[in-house]
Amino acid sequence: MKDCSLRVGHLYPDHMNLYGDRGNLMAFVYRAGLRGITVEVEQLQPGDPVARGRYDFFFFGGGQDNEQEQIYEDFLSRKGQDLARELDDGAACLAVCGGYQLLGRSYEVYGGKKIPGLGWMDVWTEAGSTRAIGNILIESTLDGRVVELAGFENHGGRTFLGEGVTPLGRVVIGSGNNGQDGTEGALVKSVVGTYLHGPVLPKNSALTDWLLA
Ligand code: GLN
Repeated sequence: MKDCSLRVGHLYPDHMNLYGDRGNLMAFVYRAGLRGITVEVEQLQPGDPVARGRYDFFFFGGGQDNEQEQIYEDFLSRKGQDLARELDDGAACLAVCGGYQLLGRSYEVYGGKKIPGLGWMDVWTEAGSTRAIGNILIESTLDGRVVELAGFENHGGRTFLGEGVTPLGRVVIGSGNNGQDGTEGALVKSVVGTYLHGPVLPKNSALTDWLLA
């Protein structure tokens, strides 16, 4: 078999890591290994650039509002443009909760302050008056196959999708993007934004394998 390896950029591992999000990378590495694919994970900390053509997959975990406020300037000024170019060129990405919000246009936190996002996805987020907390089950279609994805959500933000943005799935149980329109997450090119923690990949091998593919 041909040697195959992947390189992963883990965005802000010390700031954006809630509810075991780091486990997503363990599942990714494990299922790659089952196929003889080796994976090298590099941390992308504040100050680090996103080098051209270096990464096959990015992982951006969730964070508290406070942590999102700590990193957004570095994200936009230091990494944003290069990350956008890599995603445009087909790099895969899993962005969970706070990371998902920062790939969108903005996140208006409680009290009205707006944290600007990258705007790579046409989605935007506003804080609700309550938190959406609990187990969540969604139905998603990946490569034409209907799959159920399970996870745990805990977010104050309500996310709305611009016209033409495909949700990752339809909510069966839980709140999802905003608790109103039945959508959960977003799927643009090879980029998945989602509110599913858990972490999501160890619980949902279909999604792990889709991202690996
Ligand atoms: N701070 C954001 C919110 O509350 C994201 C939370 C998260 O990543 N779990 O909506």
